[in-house]
Amino acid sequence: MTPSSRVIDVAVLGAGAAGLNAARILAESGCSVLILEARDRIGGRILTVDDPTLPVPIELGAEFIHGSAPATFELLRRLGMSAVDSTGNHVTVRDGRTSPRDEAFGDVHRLMQQVESLREEDLSVEEFLSRYQSDPSLETACAYARRMVEGFDAACPQRASVRAIAREWSGMGGGQFRPANGYGALVAQLARVLDGAGAQIRLQTVVSSVDWAGAEVRIATSSPEGAVQAVAPLQATARRALVTFPVSVLQRPPGAPGAVRFAPPLDEKAKALQGLALGAVLKVVLRFRHAFWDEVQSRRFANAGFLHSPQAAFPTLWTALPARAPLLTAWMGGPRAQRLAGASRSQIVEKALESVESLFGTEAGVRDELKASYVHDWQQDPFARGAYDYITVGGCNAPEALAQPLRHRLFFAGEATSASDVGTVEAALQSGRRAAGEILESLRANA
Ligand SMILES: Cc1cc2nc3c(=O)[nH]c(=O)nc-3n(C[C@H](O)[C@H](O)[C@H](O)COP(=O)(O)OP(=O)(O)OC[C@H]3O[C@@H](n4cnc5c(N)ncnc54)[C@H](O)[C@@H]3O)c2cc1C
Repeated sequence: MTPSSRVIDVAVLGAGAAGLNAARILAESGCSVLILEARDRIGGRILTVDDPTLPVPIELGAEFIHGSAPATFELLRRLGMSAVDSTGNHVTVRDGRTSPRDEAFGDVHRLMQQVESLREEDLSVEEFLSRYQSDPSLETACAYARRMVEGFDAACPQRASVRAIAREWSGMGGGQFRPANGYGALVAQLARVLDGAGAQIRLQTVVSSVDWAGAEVRIATSSPEGAVQAVAPLQATARRALVTFPVSVLQRPPGAPGAVRFAPPLDEKAKALQGLALGAVLKVVLRFRHAFWDEVQSRRFANAGFLHSPQAAFPTLWTALPARAPLLTAWMGGPRAQRLAGASRSQIVEKALESVESLFGTEAGVRDELKASYVHDWQQDPFARGAYDYITVGGCNAPEALAQPLRHRLFFAGEATSASDVGTVEAALQSGRRAAGEILESLRANA
């Protein structure tokens, strides 16, 4: 164990979007900053694979910027980067017939407006929908809403809070974008800024305990299991610590593998942690020899950005539009992704290929066209244990409660701590900015 003799101003625990953005603001404000990251890379649930033979990067984690996303666009501007409008056409294919998605979308919005008149404090999405689905005029909207909760929010309809979902969907719109050159480029640029501002990033450093009983925070680390090149464990002392771990890490019972020991324990956070759950996603990027979907079936898919096939195992596929690239991404979220967790890579890819075939037909020669496939199992990843958060029944205030600092020593950021946009990079960036402001204020008050 290497004890560090120096007391640093802020230890940032986790180098995902939240931690990196907070560290940037703190370091640029003159704080000494040490970032401790368990993986051998930064970015967390941003995982970009760059292939120079493709015009776009391959995103295995976050890919889109949803809506107006002010923190994301502000950061892109600050870093001299831009975004590509990827709003795209949505096409639904059912029993071989295509229809635009928007047909059912308006009905779903009208249905969700009924949430405002609920007498109960909260209900699960499933309980709410069960009140309407026997009405034939709402049957399609109910099925559509259930699919959106699972596919878009990666949530389980039996557990997800209908109030939180209605709030989130009421703010939806404003298009969809991708950072130019991918989220990986944004993370790399953040790393350069951090380096220039003197912040230190330590990789392969698993935080195992955080002792915040005294005037300073003491952090102990270990090496990740199975690390090829073990990094010596460290003991760091900081005036403030910023916790940005995924909720799944904070929810680990004491002593369980992957649990971080907090002394004293985070009792104040127990209720907030109950109100949040990390949803499951399976995302498979398929690389083909050429974009055959542009040509099949009288070119009816040539300008489709997103393809929905509710009956397929992977019910959503998307292309790289507006870039022309031989890539299709297959997406599955919620309970069905949870059920496939732990399946072999080849089983997952096979299901994705079957879903592609169900859309374009076997005559498209999907299997002969396949050149490569990319998949990261986020559910089995020990430093994520899922994809992104959703709010469970009764948990509408959980993000704000999780965000509250403790005794001016421990601060909290991460996508789950943002009252709006939970589950997104935008939420993570916003939370990092908010937490950095809180820390600077607290350091100034104690100066
Ligand atoms: C498949 C997938 C697709 C997604 N698509 C989108 C999308 O299109 N648009 C969008 O906005 N969002 C998307 N998201 C969600 C988005 O990626 C996350 O909301 C966001 O990146 C979370 O950032 P964060 O900093 O809060 O958490 P993280 O990125 O998880 O950062 C936390 C960091 O803590 C580290 N850590 C964990 N435990 C320890 C420990 N004990 N010691 C040290 N370090 C530790 C982790 O390794 C990680 O680097 C997607 C996520 C997934 C998985």
